[in-house]
Amino acid sequence: MSSYGLICPEYNNGAFILGGKRYDFIIAGGGASGLMAAGRAAELGLKVLILEKMKRPAVKLSITGKGRCNVTNSAPLAEFIKKIKPDGRFLRQVFNRFFSDDVVGFFENRGVKIKLERGGRYFPESDKAQDIVKALLKYCEHDLIDIRTQAKVEKMIIENGQVSGVTYKDLASNKIIEVKCENVLVAVGGDCYHSTGTTGDGYKIAKDAGHKIEKIFPALVPVELDFKYQKEIEGLHLKNINLSLWNDRKKLDEEFGECEFNKKGVTGPIVLKLSRNVAELIGKGENLHFKLDFKPALDDKKMDNRLIREIEKINKGRVYDMLKSLMPLQLIDICAKMTGLNTDGRCSDLNGEQRKKLRLWLKSMELKIKDVFPINEAIVTAGGINLKEVNPKTMESKLVSGLYFSGEILNIDADTGGYNLQAAFSTGFVAAESVREKIG
Ligand SMILES: Cc1cc2nc3c(=O)[nH]c(=O)nc-3n(C[C@H](O)[C@H](O)[C@H](O)COP(=O)(O)OP(=O)(O)OC[C@H]3O[C@@H](n4cnc5c(N)ncnc54)[C@H](O)[C@@H]3O)c2cc1C
Repeated sequence: MSSYGLICPEYNNGAFILGGKRYDFIIAGGGASGLMAAGRAAELGLKVLILEKMKRPAVKLSITGKGRCNVTNSAPLAEFIKKIKPDGRFLRQVFNRFFSDDVVGFFENRGVKIKLERGGRYFPESDKAQDIVKALLKYCEHDLIDIRTQAKVEKMIIENGQVSGVTYKDLASNKIIEVKCENVLVAVGGDCYHSTGTTGDGYKIAKDAGHKIEKIFPALVPVELDFKYQKEIEGLHLKNINLSLWNDRKKLDEEFGECEFNKKGVTGPIVLKLSRNVAELIGKGENLHFKLDFKPALDDKKMDNRLIREIEKINKGRVYDMLKSLMPLQLIDICAKMTGLNTDGRCSDLNGEQRKKLRLWLKSMELKIKDVFPINEAIVTAGGINLKEVNPKTMESKLVSGLYFSGEILNIDADTGGYNLQAAFSTGFVAAESVREKIG
Protein backbone atom coordinates (compact mmCIF):
# COMPACT_ATOMS: atom_id res chain seq x y z
CA MET A 1 0.00 0.00 0.00
CA SER A 2 1.41 3.41 -0.89
CA SER A 3 1.55 6.33 1.50
CA TYR A 4 -1.76 7.76 0.25
CA GLY A 5 -3.56 4.45 0.63
CA LEU A 6 -3.30 2.94 -2.84
CA ILE A 7 -4.43 -0.64 -2.94
CA CYS A 8 -3.13 -2.56 -5.91
CA PRO A 9 -5.17 -5.72 -6.41
CA GLU A 10 -3.65 -8.79 -7.98
CA TYR A 11 -2.91 -8.47 -11.63
CA ASN A 12 -3.03 -11.45 -13.89
CA ASN A 13 -2.65 -11.82 -17.65
CA GLY A 14 -3.94 -8.39 -18.65
CA ALA A 15 -7.19 -8.69 -16.68
CA PHE A 16 -7.57 -7.22 -13.25
CA ILE A 17 -8.43 -9.18 -10.18
CA LEU A 18 -10.18 -7.52 -7.26
CA GLY A 19 -11.05 -9.68 -4.29
CA GLY A 20 -10.03 -12.71 -6.31
CA LYS A 21 -12.30 -11.88 -9.28
CA ARG A 22 -11.36 -11.15 -12.82
CA TYR A 23 -13.37 -8.59 -14.81
CA ASP A 24 -13.57 -8.02 -18.55
CA PHE A 25 -15.33 -4.69 -18.35
CA ILE A 26 -15.39 -1.90 -15.78
CA ILE A 27 -18.23 0.59 -15.88
CA ALA A 28 -17.80 3.94 -14.14
CA GLY A 29 -21.30 5.14 -13.17
CA GLY A 30 -24.34 3.08 -12.27
CA GLY A 31 -26.95 5.32 -13.84
CA ALA A 32 -29.29 4.77 -16.79
CA SER A 33 -26.52 4.19 -19.28
CA GLY A 34 -24.09 2.29 -17.06
CA LEU A 35 -26.69 -0.18 -15.81
CA MET A 36 -27.96 -0.90 -19.30
CA ALA A 37 -24.37 -1.46 -20.43
CA ALA A 38 -23.62 -3.74 -17.48
CA GLY A 39 -26.71 -5.88 -17.97
CA ARG A 40 -26.09 -6.26 -21.67
CA ALA A 41 -22.41 -7.09 -21.17
CA ALA A 42 -23.23 -9.80 -18.63
CA GLU A 43 -25.91 -11.19 -20.92
CA LEU A 44 -23.14 -11.56 -23.50
CA GLY A 45 -20.92 -13.38 -21.03
CA LEU A 46 -18.62 -10.59 -19.85
CA LYS A 47 -17.57 -10.31 -16.24
CA VAL A 48 -18.47 -6.77 -15.18
CA LEU A 49 -17.68 -4.41 -12.34
CA ILE A 50 -19.81 -1.31 -11.85
CA LEU A 51 -18.22 1.48 -9.82
CA GLU A 52 -20.88 3.88 -8.57
CA LYS A 53 -20.12 6.95 -6.52
CA MET A 54 -23.41 7.14 -4.62
CA LYS A 55 -24.61 4.82 -1.87
CA ARG A 56 -27.02 3.29 -4.35
CA PRO A 57 -27.17 3.22 -8.14
CA ALA A 58 -29.67 5.04 -10.39
CA VAL A 59 -30.52 7.87 -8.01
CA LYS A 60 -31.24 10.25 -10.88
CA LEU A 61 -33.28 7.73 -12.81
CA SER A 62 -35.60 7.36 -9.82
CA ILE A 63 -36.61 11.05 -10.01
CA THR A 64 -36.93 11.34 -13.78
CA GLY A 65 -40.17 12.52 -15.36
CA LYS A 66 -41.32 13.99 -12.02
CA GLY A 67 -41.06 10.52 -10.53
CA ARG A 68 -42.84 8.89 -13.50
CA CYS A 69 -39.81 8.37 -15.82
CA ASN A 70 -40.42 9.19 -19.44
CA VAL A 71 -38.35 6.27 -20.77
CA THR A 72 -38.41 7.06 -24.47
CA ASN A 73 -40.45 8.52 -27.31
CA SER A 74 -42.36 7.06 -30.24
CA ALA A 75 -40.96 9.59 -32.74
CA PRO A 76 -39.60 7.91 -35.89
CA LEU A 77 -35.81 7.81 -36.25
CA ALA A 78 -35.44 10.90 -38.46
CA GLU A 79 -37.56 13.03 -36.13
CA PHE A 80 -35.90 11.56 -33.03
CA ILE A 81 -32.46 12.49 -34.31
CA LYS A 82 -33.58 16.09 -34.88
CA LYS A 83 -34.47 16.40 -31.18
CA ILE A 84 -30.87 15.74 -30.21
CA LYS A 85 -28.39 18.57 -30.10
CA PRO A 86 -25.90 19.62 -31.34
CA ASP A 87 -25.91 16.84 -33.94
CA GLY A 88 -28.19 13.86 -33.41
CA ARG A 89 -26.77 12.11 -36.48
CA PHE A 90 -23.97 10.86 -34.25
CA LEU A 91 -26.53 8.50 -32.69
CA ARG A 92 -27.97 7.10 -35.93
CA GLN A 93 -25.90 3.93 -35.81
CA VAL A 94 -26.55 3.16 -32.16
CA PHE A 95 -30.27 3.85 -32.64
CA ASN A 96 -30.24 1.41 -35.54
CA ARG A 97 -29.08 -1.22 -33.07
CA PHE A 98 -31.16 -0.33 -30.03
CA PHE A 99 -34.06 2.09 -30.38
CA SER A 100 -37.33 3.09 -28.72
CA ASP A 101 -39.20 -0.12 -29.54
CA ASP A 102 -36.29 -2.05 -28.00
CA VAL A 103 -36.49 0.05 -24.83
CA VAL A 104 -40.25 -0.47 -24.59
CA GLY A 105 -39.78 -4.20 -25.24
CA PHE A 106 -36.93 -4.37 -22.73
CA PHE A 107 -39.09 -3.11 -19.86
CA GLU A 108 -42.25 -4.96 -20.89
CA ASN A 109 -40.30 -8.23 -21.04
CA ARG A 110 -39.27 -7.55 -17.47
CA GLY A 111 -42.83 -7.06 -16.31
CA VAL A 112 -43.05 -3.26 -16.51
CA LYS A 113 -46.03 -2.34 -18.68
CA ILE A 114 -45.36 0.80 -20.72
CA LYS A 115 -48.00 3.28 -21.86
CA LEU A 116 -47.93 5.91 -24.58
CA GLU A 117 -48.93 9.47 -23.73
CA ARG A 118 -49.37 12.77 -25.57
CA GLY A 119 -46.33 13.84 -27.58
CA GLY A 120 -45.21 10.24 -28.12
CA ARG A 121 -43.94 9.95 -24.54
CA TYR A 122 -43.61 6.48 -23.05
CA PHE A 123 -44.05 6.02 -19.30
CA PRO A 124 -44.43 2.98 -17.07
CA GLU A 125 -48.15 2.27 -16.73
CA SER A 126 -47.70 2.45 -12.93
CA ASP A 127 -46.40 6.05 -13.26
CA LYS A 128 -43.53 4.97 -11.04
CA ALA A 129 -39.94 5.64 -12.07
CA GLN A 130 -39.00 3.18 -9.33
CA ASP A 131 -40.40 0.35 -11.46
CA ILE A 132 -37.94 1.27 -14.22
CA VAL A 133 -35.09 1.42 -11.71
CA LYS A 134 -36.06 -1.96 -10.24
CA ALA A 135 -36.19 -3.57 -13.69
CA LEU A 136 -32.73 -2.25 -14.57
CA LEU A 137 -31.28 -3.35 -11.24
CA LYS A 138 -32.84 -6.78 -11.73
CA TYR A 139 -31.16 -6.91 -15.15
CA CYS A 140 -27.89 -6.31 -13.31
CA GLU A 141 -28.56 -8.96 -10.64
CA HIS A 142 -26.36 -11.34 -12.51
CA ASP A 143 -23.63 -13.71 -11.40
CA LEU A 144 -21.26 -11.92 -13.76
CA ILE A 145 -21.87 -8.44 -12.32
CA ASP A 146 -20.45 -6.90 -9.17
CA ILE A 147 -21.53 -3.45 -8.08
CA ARG A 148 -19.39 -1.34 -5.79
CA THR A 149 -21.10 1.73 -4.42
CA GLN A 150 -19.41 4.74 -2.84
CA ALA A 151 -16.70 4.10 -5.40
CA LYS A 152 -15.71 7.38 -7.04
CA VAL A 153 -13.76 6.79 -10.23
CA GLU A 154 -11.00 9.36 -10.51
CA LYS A 155 -8.71 8.42 -13.34
CA MET A 156 -8.08 6.10 -16.24
CA ILE A 157 -4.78 4.24 -16.29
CA ILE A 158 -3.47 4.34 -19.83
CA GLU A 159 -0.39 2.59 -21.18
CA ASN A 160 0.74 3.05 -24.78
CA GLY A 161 -2.65 4.32 -25.94
CA GLN A 162 -4.51 1.44 -24.30
CA VAL A 163 -6.61 1.54 -21.12
CA SER A 164 -5.12 -0.73 -18.52
CA GLY A 165 -7.30 0.13 -15.56
CA VAL A 166 -8.92 2.78 -13.39
CA THR A 167 -8.26 4.44 -10.10
CA TYR A 168 -11.17 5.03 -7.75
CA LYS A 169 -11.65 6.35 -4.27
CA ASP A 170 -13.54 4.16 -1.85
CA LEU A 171 -15.58 6.90 -0.19
CA ALA A 172 -16.28 4.78 2.89
CA SER A 173 -12.60 4.23 3.75
CA ASN A 174 -11.12 7.14 1.78
CA LYS A 175 -8.66 4.70 0.20
CA ILE A 176 -7.53 5.03 -3.37
CA ILE A 177 -7.84 1.77 -5.21
CA GLU A 178 -6.29 0.93 -8.52
CA VAL A 179 -7.87 -1.81 -10.58
CA LYS A 180 -6.68 -3.24 -13.86
CA CYS A 181 -8.90 -3.91 -16.85
CA GLU A 182 -8.55 -3.33 -20.57
CA ASN A 183 -12.09 -2.16 -21.25
CA VAL A 184 -13.60 0.71 -19.34
CA LEU A 185 -16.84 2.58 -19.97
CA VAL A 186 -17.19 6.09 -18.58
CA ALA A 187 -20.92 6.57 -17.97
CA VAL A 188 -20.81 9.10 -15.15
CA GLY A 189 -23.37 11.53 -16.61
CA GLY A 190 -23.18 15.32 -16.79
CA ASP A 191 -22.88 18.19 -14.34
CA CYS A 192 -26.42 18.89 -13.16
CA TYR A 193 -28.53 17.76 -10.23
CA HIS A 194 -25.42 17.22 -8.13
CA SER A 195 -27.42 15.57 -5.38
CA THR A 196 -27.93 12.60 -7.72
CA GLY A 197 -24.18 12.03 -8.05
CA THR A 198 -23.50 13.83 -11.30
CA THR A 199 -20.96 16.51 -10.55
CA GLY A 200 -19.08 16.66 -13.83
CA ASP A 201 -16.35 14.19 -12.74
CA GLY A 202 -16.28 12.60 -16.17
CA TYR A 203 -15.00 15.71 -17.94
CA LYS A 204 -11.78 15.69 -15.93
CA ILE A 205 -11.37 11.94 -16.36
CA ALA A 206 -11.80 12.30 -20.14
CA LYS A 207 -9.58 15.38 -20.34
CA ASP A 208 -6.80 13.58 -18.50
CA ALA A 209 -7.15 10.80 -21.06
CA GLY A 210 -6.55 13.36 -23.82
CA HIS A 211 -10.13 14.10 -24.87
CA LYS A 212 -11.48 17.50 -25.81
CA ILE A 213 -14.52 18.67 -23.88
CA GLU A 214 -17.00 20.88 -25.70
CA LYS A 215 -18.14 23.79 -23.50
CA ILE A 216 -20.55 22.68 -20.79
CA PHE A 217 -23.75 24.67 -20.29
CA PRO A 218 -27.21 24.03 -18.85
CA ALA A 219 -29.99 22.78 -21.10
CA LEU A 220 -33.61 22.25 -20.05
CA VAL A 221 -33.29 24.82 -17.30
CA PRO A 222 -35.51 27.59 -15.87
CA VAL A 223 -34.79 31.11 -17.07
CA GLU A 224 -34.04 34.02 -14.75
CA LEU A 225 -35.86 37.25 -15.61
CA ASP A 226 -35.20 40.88 -15.02
CA PHE A 227 -38.88 41.70 -14.56
CA LYS A 228 -40.09 44.53 -12.38
CA TYR A 229 -43.23 42.65 -11.34
CA GLN A 230 -41.63 39.25 -10.59
CA LYS A 231 -42.96 39.19 -7.04
CA GLU A 232 -46.52 39.86 -8.21
CA ILE A 233 -46.35 37.28 -11.00
CA GLU A 234 -44.72 34.52 -8.91
CA GLY A 235 -46.76 31.31 -8.87
CA LEU A 236 -48.78 32.17 -11.99
CA HIS A 237 -49.31 29.15 -14.25
CA LEU A 238 -50.30 29.91 -17.84
CA LYS A 239 -51.64 27.48 -20.43
CA ASN A 240 -52.06 27.77 -24.21
CA ILE A 241 -49.74 30.71 -24.54
CA ASN A 242 -47.01 31.42 -27.06
CA LEU A 243 -43.54 32.37 -25.87
CA SER A 244 -41.05 33.71 -28.36
CA LEU A 245 -37.34 34.35 -27.85
CA TRP A 246 -35.78 37.53 -29.27
CA ASN A 247 -32.43 39.21 -29.41
CA ASP A 248 -32.02 42.92 -30.20
CA ARG A 249 -32.67 42.28 -33.88
CA LYS A 250 -35.03 39.40 -34.49
CA LYS A 251 -37.17 36.52 -33.30
CA LEU A 252 -35.02 33.43 -32.74
CA ASP A 253 -37.42 30.76 -31.61
CA GLU A 254 -40.91 30.20 -30.21
CA GLU A 255 -42.96 27.57 -28.41
CA PHE A 256 -46.65 27.09 -27.66
CA GLY A 257 -47.86 25.56 -24.40
CA GLU A 258 -47.50 26.06 -20.65
CA CYS A 259 -45.21 28.04 -18.40
CA GLU A 260 -45.01 28.93 -14.75
CA PHE A 261 -43.47 31.90 -12.97
CA ASN A 262 -41.33 31.33 -9.91
CA LYS A 263 -39.43 33.55 -7.50
CA LYS A 264 -36.66 34.54 -9.88
CA GLY A 265 -37.97 33.76 -13.33
CA VAL A 266 -40.00 31.38 -15.40
CA THR A 267 -40.07 27.66 -16.04
CA GLY A 268 -42.39 25.00 -17.46
CA PRO A 269 -42.29 22.89 -20.64
CA ILE A 270 -42.02 25.68 -23.19
CA VAL A 271 -39.39 27.58 -21.23
CA LEU A 272 -37.28 24.44 -20.83
CA LYS A 273 -37.47 23.89 -24.58
CA LEU A 274 -36.27 27.43 -25.29
CA SER A 275 -33.68 27.42 -22.53
CA ARG A 276 -30.87 25.68 -24.42
CA ASN A 277 -30.86 28.51 -26.93
CA VAL A 278 -31.03 31.07 -24.12
CA ALA A 279 -28.07 29.51 -22.27
CA GLU A 280 -25.95 29.32 -25.41
CA LEU A 281 -26.67 32.90 -26.54
CA ILE A 282 -26.39 34.47 -23.09
CA GLY A 283 -23.02 32.75 -22.89
CA LYS A 284 -22.07 34.62 -26.05
CA GLY A 285 -23.09 37.92 -24.49
CA GLU A 286 -26.35 38.49 -26.40
CA ASN A 287 -29.19 40.60 -24.97
CA LEU A 288 -32.31 38.47 -24.98
CA HIS A 289 -35.96 38.85 -24.13
CA PHE A 290 -39.14 36.81 -24.33
CA LYS A 291 -42.40 38.03 -25.80
CA LEU A 292 -45.42 36.43 -24.25
CA ASP A 293 -48.56 36.14 -26.38
CA PHE A 294 -51.54 35.47 -24.11
CA LYS A 295 -53.91 35.03 -27.05
CA PRO A 296 -52.02 33.14 -29.77
CA ALA A 297 -55.24 32.02 -31.46
CA LEU A 298 -56.15 35.64 -32.28
CA ASP A 299 -54.25 37.71 -34.82
CA ASP A 300 -54.02 41.47 -34.29
CA LYS A 301 -57.27 42.19 -36.12
CA LYS A 302 -59.24 39.52 -34.26
CA MET A 303 -57.70 40.61 -30.98
CA ASP A 304 -58.78 44.19 -31.60
CA ASN A 305 -62.32 43.07 -32.47
CA ARG A 306 -62.43 41.02 -29.28
CA LEU A 307 -61.36 44.06 -27.24
CA ILE A 308 -64.01 46.21 -28.92
CA ARG A 309 -66.65 43.62 -28.04
CA GLU A 310 -65.49 43.33 -24.42
CA ILE A 311 -65.39 47.11 -24.00
CA GLU A 312 -68.90 47.45 -25.45
CA LYS A 313 -70.17 44.71 -23.21
CA ILE A 314 -68.91 46.31 -19.99
CA ASN A 315 -69.60 49.78 -21.36
CA LYS A 316 -69.91 52.11 -18.35
CA GLY A 317 -68.56 49.45 -15.98
CA ARG A 318 -64.99 49.33 -14.69
CA VAL A 319 -61.96 48.59 -16.84
CA TYR A 320 -61.09 46.03 -14.15
CA ASP A 321 -64.19 43.97 -15.06
CA MET A 322 -63.26 44.00 -18.72
CA LEU A 323 -59.67 42.86 -17.95
CA LYS A 324 -61.09 40.04 -15.82
CA SER A 325 -62.53 38.44 -18.93
CA LEU A 326 -59.16 38.61 -20.70
CA MET A 327 -56.61 37.38 -18.17
CA PRO A 328 -56.10 35.68 -14.79
CA LEU A 329 -56.81 37.99 -11.83
CA GLN A 330 -53.15 37.86 -10.79
CA LEU A 331 -52.22 39.64 -14.01
CA ILE A 332 -54.66 42.54 -13.90
CA ASP A 333 -52.59 44.78 -11.68
CA ILE A 334 -49.41 44.06 -13.65
CA CYS A 335 -51.22 44.77 -16.93
CA ALA A 336 -52.57 48.03 -15.56
CA LYS A 337 -49.14 49.14 -14.39
CA MET A 338 -47.43 48.21 -17.64
CA THR A 339 -50.05 49.76 -19.92
CA GLY A 340 -50.98 52.72 -17.74
CA LEU A 341 -54.67 51.73 -17.71
CA ASN A 342 -56.78 52.88 -14.79
CA THR A 343 -58.62 49.77 -13.62
CA ASP A 344 -61.22 51.94 -11.81
CA GLY A 345 -61.94 53.97 -14.93
CA ARG A 346 -64.94 53.41 -17.16
CA CYS A 347 -64.57 51.07 -20.06
CA SER A 348 -66.46 53.37 -22.37
CA ASP A 349 -63.84 56.08 -21.70
CA LEU A 350 -61.00 54.00 -23.21
CA ASN A 351 -59.67 55.57 -26.39
CA GLY A 352 -58.12 53.89 -29.46
CA GLU A 353 -54.59 54.48 -28.22
CA GLN A 354 -55.30 52.77 -24.89
CA ARG A 355 -56.98 49.88 -26.66
CA LYS A 356 -53.92 49.50 -28.88
CA LYS A 357 -51.63 49.47 -25.82
CA LEU A 358 -53.72 46.75 -24.26
CA ARG A 359 -53.72 44.73 -27.47
CA LEU A 360 -49.94 44.97 -27.80
CA TRP A 361 -49.50 43.97 -24.19
CA LEU A 362 -51.75 40.92 -24.58
CA LYS A 363 -50.00 39.86 -27.79
CA SER A 364 -46.41 40.61 -26.83
CA MET A 365 -45.72 41.29 -23.18
CA GLU A 366 -41.98 41.70 -22.90
CA LEU A 367 -39.87 39.84 -20.34
CA LYS A 368 -36.22 40.78 -20.21
CA ILE A 369 -33.95 37.77 -19.72
CA LYS A 370 -31.21 38.04 -17.12
CA ASP A 371 -29.69 34.56 -17.29
CA VAL A 372 -30.51 30.88 -17.09
CA PHE A 373 -30.65 29.20 -13.67
CA PRO A 374 -27.39 27.56 -12.50
CA ILE A 375 -26.35 24.33 -14.22
CA ASN A 376 -27.06 22.33 -11.08
CA GLU A 377 -30.75 23.12 -11.59
CA ALA A 378 -30.74 22.01 -15.22
CA ILE A 379 -32.32 18.72 -16.25
CA VAL A 380 -29.60 18.05 -18.79
CA THR A 381 -26.03 19.19 -19.39
CA ALA A 382 -25.23 20.41 -22.89
CA GLY A 383 -21.66 20.07 -24.13
CA GLY A 384 -19.32 17.23 -23.21
CA ILE A 385 -16.96 14.80 -24.91
CA ASN A 386 -16.17 15.92 -28.43
CA LEU A 387 -18.05 13.54 -30.72
CA LYS A 388 -15.36 13.55 -33.36
CA GLU A 389 -13.15 11.66 -30.92
CA VAL A 390 -15.64 8.85 -30.34
CA ASN A 391 -16.47 6.07 -32.81
CA PRO A 392 -20.25 6.40 -33.46
CA LYS A 393 -20.52 2.70 -34.19
CA THR A 394 -18.92 1.42 -30.99
CA MET A 395 -18.74 4.34 -28.52
CA GLU A 396 -15.02 3.62 -28.20
CA SER A 397 -12.58 6.49 -27.93
CA LYS A 398 -10.63 7.12 -31.11
CA LEU A 399 -7.71 8.25 -28.96
CA VAL A 400 -7.43 5.52 -26.35
CA SER A 401 -8.10 1.88 -27.12
CA GLY A 402 -10.45 0.16 -24.67
CA LEU A 403 -11.93 3.45 -23.39
CA TYR A 404 -15.68 3.90 -24.03
CA PHE A 405 -18.13 6.70 -23.31
CA SER A 406 -21.91 6.60 -23.06
CA GLY A 407 -24.84 8.74 -21.93
CA GLU A 408 -24.92 12.36 -20.96
CA ILE A 409 -21.15 12.76 -20.67
CA LEU A 410 -21.06 12.83 -24.48
CA ASN A 411 -21.69 16.12 -26.26
CA ILE A 412 -25.36 15.28 -26.71
CA ASP A 413 -28.49 16.64 -25.07
CA ALA A 414 -32.08 16.57 -26.13
CA ASP A 415 -35.50 18.03 -25.67
CA THR A 416 -37.84 16.75 -23.00
CA GLY A 417 -39.86 13.77 -24.18
CA GLY A 418 -37.76 10.70 -23.31
CA TYR A 419 -34.99 11.42 -25.81
CA ASN A 420 -32.24 11.78 -23.21
CA LEU A 421 -32.87 8.44 -21.58
CA GLN A 422 -33.09 6.72 -24.94
CA ALA A 423 -29.69 8.17 -25.84
CA ALA A 424 -28.28 6.93 -22.51
CA PHE A 425 -29.76 3.43 -22.90
CA SER A 426 -28.72 3.06 -26.56
CA THR A 427 -25.14 4.25 -26.13
CA GLY A 428 -24.65 2.05 -23.04
CA PHE A 429 -26.14 -0.98 -24.76
CA VAL A 430 -23.96 -0.56 -27.84
CA ALA A 431 -20.79 0.09 -25.82
CA ALA A 432 -21.33 -3.27 -24.09
CA GLU A 433 -21.86 -5.08 -27.38
CA SER A 434 -18.75 -3.42 -28.80
CA VAL A 435 -16.61 -4.69 -25.92
CA ARG A 436 -17.99 -8.20 -26.44
CA GLU A 437 -17.22 -7.99 -30.16
CA LYS A 438 -13.73 -6.70 -29.46
CA ILE A 439 -12.90 -9.40 -26.95
CA GLY A 440 -14.28 -11.95 -29.40
C1 LIG B 1 -35.02 15.89 -12.61
C2 LIG B 1 -34.68 15.19 -13.89
C3 LIG B 1 -35.69 14.58 -14.61
C4 LIG B 1 -35.39 13.95 -15.82
N1 LIG B 1 -36.40 13.32 -16.49
C5 LIG B 1 -36.13 12.68 -17.65
C6 LIG B 1 -37.15 11.94 -18.32
O1 LIG B 1 -38.27 11.77 -17.83
N2 LIG B 1 -36.82 11.39 -19.54
C7 LIG B 1 -35.58 11.50 -20.09
O2 LIG B 1 -35.36 11.00 -21.19
N3 LIG B 1 -34.57 12.14 -19.43
C8 LIG B 1 -34.82 12.70 -18.22
N4 LIG B 1 -33.80 13.33 -17.55
C9 LIG B 1 -32.43 13.27 -18.10
C10 LIG B 1 -31.85 11.86 -17.84
O3 LIG B 1 -32.10 11.48 -16.51
C11 LIG B 1 -30.35 11.83 -18.10
O4 LIG B 1 -30.06 12.37 -19.37
C12 LIG B 1 -29.84 10.39 -18.01
O5 LIG B 1 -30.06 9.87 -16.72
C13 LIG B 1 -28.35 10.31 -18.35
O6 LIG B 1 -27.92 8.99 -18.14
P1 LIG B 1 -26.41 8.69 -17.72
O7 LIG B 1 -26.35 7.25 -17.41
O8 LIG B 1 -25.50 9.28 -18.72
O9 LIG B 1 -26.20 9.52 -16.39
P2 LIG B 1 -26.91 9.34 -14.97
O10 LIG B 1 -28.20 8.62 -15.11
O11 LIG B 1 -26.91 10.70 -14.41
O12 LIG B 1 -25.92 8.37 -14.20
C14 LIG B 1 -24.57 8.69 -13.94
C15 LIG B 1 -24.13 7.92 -12.72
O13 LIG B 1 -22.73 8.07 -12.56
C16 LIG B 1 -22.43 8.25 -11.19
N5 LIG B 1 -21.15 8.95 -11.09
C17 LIG B 1 -20.87 10.25 -11.28
N6 LIG B 1 -19.56 10.49 -11.13
C18 LIG B 1 -19.00 9.30 -10.81
C19 LIG B 1 -17.68 8.90 -10.52
N7 LIG B 1 -16.66 9.77 -10.50
N8 LIG B 1 -17.44 7.60 -10.23
C20 LIG B 1 -18.45 6.70 -10.21
N9 LIG B 1 -19.73 7.02 -10.46
C21 LIG B 1 -19.99 8.32 -10.77
C22 LIG B 1 -23.61 9.05 -10.68
O14 LIG B 1 -23.73 8.93 -9.27
C23 LIG B 1 -24.77 8.43 -11.44
O15 LIG B 1 -25.34 7.35 -10.73
C24 LIG B 1 -34.07 13.95 -16.32
C25 LIG B 1 -33.06 14.55 -15.57
C26 LIG B 1 -33.35 15.16 -14.37
C27 LIG B 1 -32.25 15.79 -13.58
